[in-house]
Amino acid sequence: MYLKQINPFESAMKQFDKAASLLKLSASQIAMIKEPRRITEVNLPVRMSDGSITIFKGFRVQHSIVRGPAKGGIRFHPNVTVDEVKALAFWMTYKCAVVGVPFGGGKGGVVCDPDQLTPTELENLSRRYFAEMSDLFGPNSDVPAPDVNTNSQIMAWMFDTYSMHKKQFLPAVITGKPLELGGSEGRSEATAQGMVFCVEEATKLLGIDLKQTTVAIQGFGNAGSFAAKLLNEDGAKIVAISDVSGAYYNPSGIDIAAAFATCRSNKTWLLKGLEKKTKCEKLSDPMKLLELEVDILIPAALENQIIEENAPRVKARIIAECANGPVTPEADDILEQKKVFLIPDILCNAGGVTVSYLEWVQNRMGYYWSRERIQQDLEQIMKKAFDEVFETAKSHQVNMRIGAFLLAIDRVTKAAELRGLYA
Ligand code: GLU
Repeated sequence: MYLKQINPFESAMKQFDKAASLLKLSASQIAMIKEPRRITEVNLPVRMSDGSITIFKGFRVQHSIVRGPAKGGIRFHPNVTVDEVKALAFWMTYKCAVVGVPFGGGKGGVVCDPDQLTPTELENLSRRYFAEMSDLFGPNSDVPAPDVNTNSQIMAWMFDTYSMHKKQFLPAVITGKPLELGGSEGRSEATAQGMVFCVEEATKLLGIDLKQTTVAIQGFGNAGSFAAKLLNEDGAKIVAISDVSGAYYNPSGIDIAAAFATCRSNKTWLLKGLEKKTKCEKLSDPMKLLELEVDILIPAALENQIIEENAPRVKARIIAECANGPVTPEADDILEQKKVFLIPDILCNAGGVTVSYLEWVQNRMGYYWSRERIQQDLEQIMKKAFDEVFETAKSHQVNMRIGAFLLAIDRVTKAAELRGLYA
């Protein structure tokens, strides 16, 4: 609803400027790490099932390759814009730096509505996108992954396209693949699992018992659905969930197994009809989910959901950003005044790219770890990052978002300076 009013790249630049001014970076230091390195835009001709050809617009933005290959997902959505992809690529650079995985930042996007495409059209589009961009991608240059509306099947088609072009088996070119093709244990739930580790740390700090909490989750895709499942298993009460079909509320707790069953029974993965299948009420305005009286609010959908206008009405004690960019800088200030403990996206949802890193490492050595090993590494990486962000924020007397940026910008700046300028 609020999506189009605010330019996410402008918001990202505001976040950067705030942190960079505290770090007292020089103009040259800023010039090296602020703007994206490379922006590619393509028109993709795709053969449709009726024999006609449709042109789809696609983007890949490489924001940074200072600390490692560009890394970040590919989004399929009708509202994709180049500024959105630029913002998402920027957040990836600093997300990878926060958790200390050796990657830069990138993001891809295709303007399309995957629900309107047949499986063959979706495959044709995915392959054409990857083929057009195949000079950019590579295990040592740019490694994509899933994002909004893309999944392990799409990653498999993209990996296959690249491997056919190069005439080699090259699984490390993309992460989030199916297990059968070099995917990693634990990757599908990694974003949500990483968020849960952060929430566990936050509740400990605030003296809250997670088992006594109520939770509202906006979005029921990969991040939101696993967030509901994992927090429910941890004993928290999920009182509201939502997706594009609407928001569903039950103060006594939503039956999460019924929510999954509903999504599976619908033609596409949607909660549509949940209010008829289990006890809950469908909210007349789905945005009201963000304003419910809950302990933990988890935006797990798109950017610009909590803005200047609705931020004063947010009642949650903790906000855990599973989505990228769900809270605008203006809303950040309001939430800070309200003493909301906000776990910022570049920390909170970094579990996804962290297990992507573990997948990439496994692909390169050709040896695969158990689920327990992945879980252990993810927990250790996330909790260390949480503690470092918290300590940075405390010592500079800033909020967790600025703390995360201070930590990450410092790491990227140091790497850029050590590399120097090739000229
Ligand atoms: N799309 C996810 C994100 O925004 C995952 C990126 C990745 O695994 O490279 O963090």
